[in-house]
Amino acid sequence: MAKRHKQREFLQNYDMWYDDYQRQLEEFEKINKEAQELEKEAGLKKIDEAYQKQLDLIEPFMFAESVYLLDGRPLRFTNRDYLKMIYNTDIKEGLLMCGRQVEKSTTFSVKISNETLLTPFMRSLYMAPLNEQVKVFSEDRLGRLFEYSQNDVIKRTFITTRDKQNVFNKSFSNGSLIYLRHCFGTGDNIRGLSVNGLFGDEVQDIDIDALPVVQETQAHALELGPCFKMTWYSGTPKTFSNTIQQIWNGSNQCEWVVRCDHCNTDQILGVGNITPDKYVCRKCGRELTRNNIAKRGRWVKLNSKGDMWGFRITQMMNPSMPAEDIYKKMMTYDSQKFNNEVLGRSYENADKPFPPLLLEQMLDNDYTFLPSKIGDFLYSHTFAGVDWGTGGKSYTVLIIIGVRPDGRKQMIYAKVYKIGEELDREWQFNHILGMIQQYQVSYFIADYGHGFDMNQKFKKILGPRFDCVYWSSNLGTEIKYEAQGAIPMWVANRTKTIFKYITECKEMQHIWPGGEKDKEDIQMIKEHHLAEQAEYKSTKPKAGSNPMITRSEELYYTHPMSSPDDGMHAGVYASLAARLKPNGSGGIIFGGGYIR
Ligand SMILES: [Zn+2]
Repeated sequence: MAKRHKQREFLQNYDMWYDDYQRQLEEFEKINKEAQELEKEAGLKKIDEAYQKQLDLIEPFMFAESVYLLDGRPLRFTNRDYLKMIYNTDIKEGLLMCGRQVEKSTTFSVKISNETLLTPFMRSLYMAPLNEQVKVFSEDRLGRLFEYSQNDVIKRTFITTRDKQNVFNKSFSNGSLIYLRHCFGTGDNIRGLSVNGLFGDEVQDIDIDALPVVQETQAHALELGPCFKMTWYSGTPKTFSNTIQQIWNGSNQCEWVVRCDHCNTDQILGVGNITPDKYVCRKCGRELTRNNIAKRGRWVKLNSKGDMWGFRITQMMNPSMPAEDIYKKMMTYDSQKFNNEVLGRSYENADKPFPPLLLEQMLDNDYTFLPSKIGDFLYSHTFAGVDWGTGGKSYTVLIIIGVRPDGRKQMIYAKVYKIGEELDREWQFNHILGMIQQYQVSYFIADYGHGFDMNQKFKKILGPRFDCVYWSSNLGTEIKYEAQGAIPMWVANRTKTIFKYITECKEMQHIWPGGEKDKEDIQMIKEHHLAEQAEYKSTKPKAGSNPMITRSEELYYTHPMSSPDDGMHAGVYASLAARLKPNGSGGIIFGGGYIR
């Protein structure tokens, strides 16, 4: 298919620009008349190459300004240069990750409308999680764009009396059509449609598992109408585990990088640029004007590995949003709201991942520690986690959990090695080994750091029933097994693994023995969970890169020096053991022989 927009040329030269709207409009009407003549001659609708070639000349950004009305006034993109790339390039896969009130719906409706009107026989699906959202978008956004256009050009040239213009289906005289559907739940409502364009709105509320279902609608896109596939998502971020963040992670993560007029420093707008009445340069402190932000900004990919285009659009970029308002929001919003709604960033409202109320809920008074693998656990697997203490207030902690018939994990034994002989490593080793035997633990995981010699001994004795875990801060996947090296081990992404444990606790997958409430060990383990804090760290800038255009959104779990968190880590390892080998290690259950 002929390139509709001169994509490459545009990408190479951002400044290439037209200002003759009227000429464009006339040209456009001429093209349409010719196309209608061609259609009459041919006697049937088909994509004519001459027609296509003519359409290639029209730049969508320009087309939009010359065609649409917004609340009765011609649509203008003044100081919205960041939209040029989104409208004008031939991007086939894109994501708009937006703050609130950054004209997201206008942008999305204009994008869909452009693709529909400028591409003959284009079939598109607009989807949003709820029927109500679909109706509002269909009637208030798309419907009004088509109903009220400059000189009525859309109704005159694109819509005949035969064309449908209702809430869930819109069709046009160029052969294009738009379906509008909700995708509540797993997207069943959408099955059976066949489209080129898929436009998913409010994607933060769409179930990640529904996406493959809705993408099936494009299975025949390459043989359909204009013979291409186009996918755009849009939404406002929530937490790091949300659908939109997962799509963003796989994108090339474009940030609008603004150059200061005074010192030429490139920067991504953020908290460091906000003052009570204006935006300032983070380097030299002088003003960053609207003109700076619009004209001296450009999209920069921060993830070269991403296949899809991702664009983060913030309130700070939007010219209708005064700097004073942004300052007020910074002073009054909580971090979650400010990051999500103003900066369009994901945020985990998890300053205290284990709030006291959650820990109280995990303690169930019906349960106590067990002397061995008995009762509910007779025929199920048990798992253990050890965090090696590092001295001072940091103690070695052992936690053993059993899988209940309902699948939840119950802490059946815990020990904090804190006084006298317990502080001795050899003593700890023998005691832990004894407990592994006593509770017939199927799989046992300890931390790699500070316990190397002990881990080697465990591996020798327990074989496949034992492994240690090495924390990595930048592993892409959650975990992988490294069989080579002095000791085979798991390498795991620290944040992802701890995050999973926190999620399990929040989902009440773990039960603690409330009957032991007054015992010091369980009390300490509770405190070790309470101590945990979530912080945001700067991502390490690559050598030679500009720190002003490096994001600072990496979640990191830590604890105050004065409050250890070994009990929390032991819990992480035990739950990880249960997740990694839910059916045990495949070896024979330990049959005894070691003396405590
Ligand atoms: Zn500057």
